[in-house]
Amino acid sequence: DPQLNQNYTFDSFIEGDCNRLARSAGYAVAAKPGGTSFNPLMIYGGVGLGKTHLAQAIGNEIKRTLPDKLVLYVSCEKFTQQFVDALKHNNINDFVNFYQAIDVLIMDDVHNFAGKEKTQDFFFHIFNHLHQSGRQLIITSDKAPKDLAGLEERLLSRFKWGLSADLQIPDLETRMAILKTKIYQDGIDLPNEVIEYVAHNIDNNVRELEGAMVSLLAQSTLNRKEIDLNLAKQMLKNFIKNSTKEISMEYIQSLVCEYFEVPIEMVKSQTRKREIVQARQISMYLAKAHTKSSLKSIGSFFGGRDHSTVIYACQTVEDLIDTDKKFKGYVADIQKKLKMS
Ligand code: ADP
Ligand code: MG
Repeated sequence: DPQLNQNYTFDSFIEGDCNRLARSAGYAVAAKPGGTSFNPLMIYGGVGLGKTHLAQAIGNEIKRTLPDKLVLYVSCEKFTQQFVDALKHNNINDFVNFYQAIDVLIMDDVHNFAGKEKTQDFFFHIFNHLHQSGRQLIITSDKAPKDLAGLEERLLSRFKWGLSADLQIPDLETRMAILKTKIYQDGIDLPNEVIEYVAHNIDNNVRELEGAMVSLLAQSTLNRKEIDLNLAKQMLKNFIKNSTKEISMEYIQSLVCEYFEVPIEMVKSQTRKREIVQARQISMYLAKAHTKSSLKSIGSFFGGRDHSTVIYACQTVEDLIDTDKKFKGYVADIQKKLKMS
């Protein structure tokens, strides 16, 4: 099955205080899909903390023990893309039938539904159908349901029906265990003090932890050098430095347009359509906050406007952030994506 990564199993998902509830709920769901009160099972947590891994582990376990069940893993982005394609090619019915036949639906990263109201509506109906017929839903997101600002209330209320379990940053001991397991799987030898050093210093998420280790190993192979603590310190310094990039206006524009599903070139056009104006104003606001560009160059980048337009846009966005909770959620979401890059 191309949708599920075979390496993402329960065995390879190291247990710790940071994930105990989510992991054991996942296990219960895998043993009795649709047959527990954990429906949907909602797994949430920050970037790189193991949401996809755990969600797929549930899917892989069900495939192994209950091979007749139809399991589907899909990311929210892919689902959105499929929906848009189905609309375009006029085969919404096939799309609905396909999803309604699934026994275990794993929907990854639902925070990406924010701002995509049509797709959300559509998912809402699929969700209801599956849930009513006792099928299992597993959902991941970067926040708890109550904090998912850009999602429709009725969808959020469904997400609260089952169990929400969070993944937290693993403590030092768990980070060590994760590193040791990966190293063992790859058949590599690293001095314990190096493992300890990496686990100590990379303490924000598991993906970076692995990234640092992969980088260490790659450099040691290239340089044909054994890694000792001194070398690790030197290499890790570069790893951390490389992870901060500058944010460009182009990048802001593309993120905002993707988020609101508006065509990228429209932001620079003269149109006054409400959704375009909103995307344009948020883009300007973010450009002012996250780049070193002057008001003048921001204005000229976003369609040859003058600096007073930029000031007005920033003021409008700030006012809306103060008064409109949904809007505030949109901006916070986009800002988070910006910082992840
Ligand atoms: P997320 O979907 O939350 O961004 P991922 O599931 O992609 O995070 O996890 C990032 C990486 O960290 C993956 O390679 C995954 O295997 C690994 N990982 C995360 N948590 C654990 C864990 N508890 N044990 C082992 N590996 C983990
Ligand atoms: Mg993920």
